[in-house]
This record gives sequence, C-alpha cells and structure tokens, in this order.
Amino acid sequence: MTVRIRDFLKNRTDEGPCLVVDNEVVRENYLAFASALPDTKVYYAVKANPAPEILKLLVELGSCFDVASVNETLDVLAAGATPDRISYGNPIKKESDIATAFRLGVTLFAVDCEAEVEKVARAAPGSRVICRIRCDGSGAEWPLSRKFGCEPEFAADILEHAHRLGLVAYGISFHVGSQQHNVQAWDAALASAAAVFRTCGERGINLAMVNLGGGFPAKYTRKTPKLEAYGRAIFRALRRHFGNRIPETIIEPGRGLVGNAGVIEAEVVVIAKRTPEDETRWVYLDIGKFHGLAETIDESIRYPIRTRRDRDEMGPCVIAGPTCDSVDVLYEKTPYPLPVSLAIGDKVLIEAAGAYTTMYSSIGFNGFPPLKQYVI
Ligand SMILES: *Cc1c(COP(=O)(O)O)cnc(C)c1O
Repeated sequence: MTVRIRDFLKNRTDEGPCLVVDNEVVRENYLAFASALPDTKVYYAVKANPAPEILKLLVELGSCFDVASVNETLDVLAAGATPDRISYGNPIKKESDIATAFRLGVTLFAVDCEAEVEKVARAAPGSRVICRIRCDGSGAEWPLSRKFGCEPEFAADILEHAHRLGLVAYGISFHVGSQQHNVQAWDAALASAAAVFRTCGERGINLAMVNLGGGFPAKYTRKTPKLEAYGRAIFRALRRHFGNRIPETIIEPGRGLVGNAGVIEAEVVVIAKRTPEDETRWVYLDIGKFHGLAETIDESIRYPIRTRRDRDEMGPCVIAGPTCDSVDVLYEKTPYPLPVSLAIGDKVLIEAAGAYTTMYSSIGFNGFPPLKQYVI
C-alpha cells in the first residue's frame, strides 16, 4: 500500500471492487531488476497486466516485452514500442497469428516442438527462434512445469530443424515456475541450457541467447528472498555452466514487476456462521475467483488481506466470492485470520494484486462486471 493509493481510495466515489496500480512502484521495480541483473535485458511479460499506462511507462524506461498473442503484440505497439523489442514467447501459436505478428515486424518466436518450428518457418521466414526446455517448477507457488517445454535432450534437434528450414536458431528459454521461492532454481535449467549450447556448437550452430524467464516473486503473506539474491544466484549459475562465454541473457518478469504495485479494494457482503457454536466464520466478499482472484485456485497464492480493524482480536475465516458457484471459495483448507469485529459493509484491501488479476476477471458471470482498474 502506498500513500498515493491510499489517497486515491480515500477520494474514490464509485462503487464495486477495483484494482489500483501505482505506476511509481512499477518504475521502482523496473529499476530494481535493471540493477540486480545489470547485464540482462528485461522483457516484461505483458499477460501479468497489459494496462496501457503500464506499457507506456515501460516503453519509456527502455523495457522490451514478452507477448503471448497478436492482441498483446498490438497493445505493446500501441504503447509506442518498436517490434524489435517484442518476443513472442508463447510456444502455442496458430500459424495465422505467427503470420500476423511477423507482418507487424516481430522476428523472435519461442518454440518447443518441431511442428511449431515448421509453422514459424512458413509464416515468419528467416526469424529467430528460441527453444523452450522443460523445468520441473519445484519451489514455485504457481508452477508452469508440465505444459511447456521439450525435454532438454531434444532441444538441439528442434533447433537444428529450425536451422535447416532457414530460421536463425537463436537460443534456449525456460521458466522456473511463477512465484519461485528458491533462488537456486535457475541452476539446473542453466546446466541443461549450456549442454544444448555445446551440442548445437558441435553441429555448427552457434546459439546466442538464454531467456531466463520469469519466476521472480511478489511479496504476499510469505517472506521472499530479495531480488539481489536472485541476481547473484543466476550470475553464479551462468558462470558455473558457461564459464567465461556467458551468452546474451534476458528475463521476462511479470509478477515481480507489477504484483506489489497494485491493491484491490473490496467489500464484505455477508458474514455467516454455519452453526451457532462454530468458531470459523464464512466471509463473503464482492470479489472472488471469477472476478480477478483466479490465482487462489488450490489456495496457491495467499494474498495479504487488510482491514481497518486489524488491531482487534483475530479469528479463523473461510473467505469466498459473491457468485452462485461453489468453487468460488478463496481460502478454506487453510482458514484465514480476520478480525472478529469485522462487519458487513467493511472495506478490505487485498494487497500485491497488481499481477494476474484484471485479465482473469470474467466479463460478467452472475451479472457482476469485470474488475475495474485505475493506474495512477
Ligand atoms: C507467464 C510468463 C512469464 C512471467 O512469469 P512471472 O512468474 O509472472 O514473472 C514469463 N515468461 C513466460 C514465457 C511466461 O509464460
């Protein structure tokens, strides 16, 4: 929570839950990444929060961008970035979307299988391709492991296939899992990446880049290591596996760049006890899994929730959203402590909600509008 957000909320007159993002925090975060990983270029993972004000600020600061779709590509271009600052990092793309991105000037694409290489070769001839390798995602609160990436031992074949089809076999990417608590998580992936560099080198293909992905945490309820600790661990791992031939590197922070910049203001709608002697209360908010808090699936992300009464005695609560769907429960397995004095109509602040919220919000499930956002 920043003074600017507090002042904004104090003067707010409209109704309903909203996310307020302080762009000054985004700026500080960008500069912190640039100083913790000084030789690494930042490609903001646009999917975390594509608000035009955020994209414009990052364009001004010199950031590059990781996009997952044609629409995100258009958003980044509209914010003023040139297409050479864009990496199309989603390994799952329609050929027509690759062609559109290429027409817009994008020439850097991620792939993780030979079929995708062939699409890029047809739709974006001569482009650079990065092969995504699998990472097990351990240590991450929001793992991305099984869905993406080839087994590292096949990466050289995929890149060689790209080379034969006239593409530039450019490098390796991986993602160690989002909200990664282990600063050493990059080590094993960099060992695999270095092995692919060697194998490709033996085949006469010289790779240039390692895309270190995202995974840098936002501070939720659990303590997280400092960004400098990630920077140091990554640099040491690069040295260990690449010696004095460290490749060009990029990072793609999403959560770490915007997560702590935003606060959601929501409201208590109902407080119920299911039996009179129950200690646990059910607290229903005017926001839930369907209107921005999707990352509470499996209680993965545990947001800090603050109220005006936090100095009062606390008691365990199940926290749920307002929709008529029983999966719309945020925290139940591990009940959430909230003040026993909490009352219907009280405002609650859901902190560190700048990433992966607005764009997950449904367009109107149960008639509730999408989550509003203000970037200040
Ligand atoms: C989602 C995503 C990111 C951002 O991950 P964070 O953990 O939010 O930093 C980066 N790169 C790729 C390819 C992604 O899919």
